Amino acid sequence: MTQEELFKKLVAHSKEYGFIFPSSEIYDGLSAVYDYGQLGVELKNNIKKYWWDAMTKLNDNIVGIDSAIFMHPRIWEASGHVGAFNDPLIDNRDSKKRYRADVLIEDFIAKQDEKIAKEVEKARKRFGEAFDEAKFLETNPRVAEHRAKRDAAHDRMVKALNDNDLNELRQIIVDSEIVCPISGTRNWTEVRQFNLMFETKMGSVSEGANTIYLRPETAQGIFVNFLNVQKTGRMKIPFGIAQIGKAFRNEIVARQFIFRMREFEQMEMQFFVRPGEELKWFDHWRQTRMKWHRALGFGDTHYRFHDHDKLAHYANAATDVEYEFPFGFKEVEGIHSRTDFDLGNHQKFSGKKIQYFDTETGESYVPYVVETSIGVDRMVLQVLSASYEEQKLDNGESRTVMHIPAALAPVKAAVLPLVKKDGLPEVARELMHSLKFDHNVQYDEKDSIGKRYRRQDAIGTPFCITVDHQTLEDKTVTIRHRDSMEQQRVAIADLPGIIGEEVSFRKLFAKLS
Ligand code: ATP
Repeated sequence: MTQEELFKKLVAHSKEYGFIFPSSEIYDGLSAVYDYGQLGVELKNNIKKYWWDAMTKLNDNIVGIDSAIFMHPRIWEASGHVGAFNDPLIDNRDSKKRYRADVLIEDFIAKQDEKIAKEVEKARKRFGEAFDEAKFLETNPRVAEHRAKRDAAHDRMVKALNDNDLNELRQIIVDSEIVCPISGTRNWTEVRQFNLMFETKMGSVSEGANTIYLRPETAQGIFVNFLNVQKTGRMKIPFGIAQIGKAFRNEIVARQFIFRMREFEQMEMQFFVRPGEELKWFDHWRQTRMKWHRALGFGDTHYRFHDHDKLAHYANAATDVEYEFPFGFKEVEGIHSRTDFDLGNHQKFSGKKIQYFDTETGESYVPYVVETSIGVDRMVLQVLSASYEEQKLDNGESRTVMHIPAALAPVKAAVLPLVKKDGLPEVARELMHSLKFDHNVQYDEKDSIGKRYRRQDAIGTPFCITVDHQTLEDKTVTIRHRDSMEQQRVAIADLPGIIGEEVSFRKLFAKLS
């Protein structure tokens, strides 16, 4: 199965089992907007808990807030979003398709790397054992040609983005002979800037209406509450404020399922530090966040950092945590050293003093900020794509199983009476009720036991508990483990302990400290 096929299956599976539905489906959907179904919302809530607790419980100097989506419109002027939250767009006149100019160039750069990899593979086959890859990469003229093209496009793009030079961006596309993936032609328009914020009106009469924006990030709600939280919480620098909430961006090139949506959710933490100490803290959060991802056990090699070539106007260091999705390594989280840009600008635009008096140094200053910003939906996609497996079993059968980490699994256990008679359903229901105060559990009596196991495997339930005739005699049940499919006979009295231990967040948190 190719990665593309795998991804298609994953999207279909997510819908079939109630994780994710296209929004407004009975009206043919709304592009790049999705709804979470009965299992999706559980998974999402567990991911949020993993993040929220890792921030606010494991760090005694981080607290949370929940600010409103609507904010004063001047906030978006101060933050730079009104002026500069743009994507450079280019249209192909033949296909009428619109692209982000920088993404077209990045795809071209990635293609050169693929060509180099293919040359290496061909040569490896030709030379066999004697193949010296390092030497080949150094001396082969075709490799040198691809590399030169890649580096030239890369360097020109970085410069053009930094200079905001839209003509140059177009020229790189022309010079690199990039064609539209749909029409195959090079009939390109000019490159234009397009603001990504959604606007709406506030006020009851339209004359008096004020244009306000749906927030494109949750961070600004934290900045404008800096003093409120610092004073009421008597917070001492360094400290952080965390928030989870919806954000909205009018993405032009929305694709890859829930990877790029127009309405999505972010988990952001702004960490306020002394000026001059921001790079130390940037490094701290870079390492800490990577640990958080890797603790899920999806394999360390599926993660990497991508340091930014083009720093945002406010940043003095920035990196992305990238995960290897079926469609390649892509950003799931950004870590940015934002200097004093945001607080400084809010001070300027609001006319209110936003300063911190440092009792240790005796100085007042505008704190510097290190931000960690992660998309909940991209995390959901990470978990789903890492967990999905179509497994061939030894007996020739196959099963689809979601190896979702137990702490994040939507349903923790299913209680199944072996047959629908002899008093087994009653005992099973009683057992389910005794577990439901602590865990999300399901009861299922329909179809053969094998089919019921498969249904639970497909939604990632870590445990299936089967009540059989022996249960009536000795108060024991079998517990089947999702990944190994092993079954154990255990006392009902031991179940809360076994399940509780496995699905608890403790194990994950222990890996973080
Ligand atoms: P990209 O380069 O992919 O557009 P970005 O660098 O603009 O992302 P940030 O502004 O740093 O993203 O936002 C922080 C996080 O929010 C991202 O790492 C991502 O997980 C999430 N995010 C951003 N845009 C979207 C979107 N359109 N849909 C889903 N998640 C998003």
